Amino acid sequence: MELFSILVVDDEEDFVETLVNRLKKRTIDAVGVLSGEDALELLGKREFDVVILDIKMPGGMDGIETLKEIKKIQPLAEVILLTGHASVESSIEGMRLGAFDYVLKPIKLEELFPKVAQAFEKKDVHNQKIRSAKIKQSLRYW
Ligand SMILES: [Mg+2]
Repeated sequence: MELFSILVVDDEEDFVETLVNRLKKRTIDAVGVLSGEDALELLGKREFDVVILDIKMPGGMDGIETLKEIKKIQPLAEVILLTGHASVESSIEGMRLGAFDYVLKPIKLEELFPKVAQAFEKKDVHNQKIRSAKIKQSLRYW
């Protein structure tokens, strides 16, 4: 059984394929898409714990626009931004918009994976709080 789910969103097909395969080898439920539009369509159908999101993508939606929409559709999904040196400003904007963290390209897995683990932990803590609040609510006296 897969422990967690990750959506990888990046316009570089080789990168997406490699990363998704490496995550799957670690029994993570990983799916890759090549655009913000495809990411939003998928997020409308199923949940992901963590989204790894490229900031620079051609076409209608860049990473920041995609991030804004992700936070509307799945506010509890933790987003890690992938950024080039030239777009560090955008990462800061992304963090302000609720991204968990960012990683500089070219991506080093030894840098990315610990951040992914932290993002999962944060989501777990959050989920436990929600669960505990629900339990308290259902057990309260009227
Ligand atoms: Mg790109």
